[in-house]
Amino acid sequence: MKVTVTVLETRDIIRQWRKEGLTIGFVPTMGFLHEGHASLIKKCREENDKVVVSVFINPTQFGENEDLEAYPRDFNRDTALCEKMGADLIFHPEAEEMYQNPCTVVNITTLSDNLCGKTRPTHFKGVCTVVSKLFNIITPDNAYFGQKDAQQLAIIKKMVKDLNFHIRIVGCPIIREEDGLAKSSRNTYLNETERKAALCLSKAVKKGQEIIFMGCDSEMVLEQMREIIEKESLAKIDYISMVDVLTMQPVDHVEKPVVVAMAVYIGKTRLIDNFIYGEE
Ligand code: AMP
Repeated sequence: MKVTVTVLETRDIIRQWRKEGLTIGFVPTMGFLHEGHASLIKKCREENDKVVVSVFINPTQFGENEDLEAYPRDFNRDTALCEKMGADLIFHPEAEEMYQNPCTVVNITTLSDNLCGKTRPTHFKGVCTVVSKLFNIITPDNAYFGQKDAQQLAIIKKMVKDLNFHIRIVGCPIIREEDGLAKSSRNTYLNETERKAALCLSKAVKKGQEIIFMGCDSEMVLEQMREIIEKESLAKIDYISMVDVLTMQPVDHVEKPVVVAMAVYIGKTRLIDNFIYGEE
């Protein structure tokens, strides 16, 4: 497995693979990898000749008072996990390599208006910009994203369509801890008490899945989920919402495939979770 830090050396390797007629799969990450990331790399390994993982904490997707500085890092451990999962290349640039006084951004409207986009108004502009840049550098055939970040997945799918990237976007299911908590690099921020409190998210997801399956409509589903979270004194709801899986716009009735998504603060840590209903 190779590790590159510049765009130039990355392009050289990709060019060689292309000459050999090999297919390329890509998994973008911010590092501090866990089994959620590993599941993406595994799927990518199964479907492509070559597997590229990027490890880059993208500064432009963090808001001013967010956790850019505190974001956990352990590149040695990330390298070991990528190697174990059969990756061929890690692209690990510094911010200066990726951004040299840029004047260009990729912005997406509508899909980024609510949910996480409301609380983090510049977040998806940063995501779309960096993912576009990474797509242009890696030129993958297939790129793998987690359903854990449901709004991000919908946004990337739409961006790829709108901008004619010739890349297939593959959504991968949420990987959870044994007790239900969705795996996240940010779970390391939680102390022992908060870790227990954080279970209210997955409990709410479970409850939501149960009652939506029984035929309950949006308001009832959201209310019962809200109730579970509000019982937890350390939890503060940022949002809980039922949205169309493609447009990310709120729905009142469960007619088409929907995502029920939430963001909840546990102490100072903002966690997200969701489930899809109605998709084959
Ligand atoms: P991040 O490093 O947090 O930016 O995540 C990189 C990719 O891993 C994104 O596509 C995430 O959606 C995905 N991911 C993160 N956590 C999980 C999880 N628990 N299960 C599945 N995918 C995940």
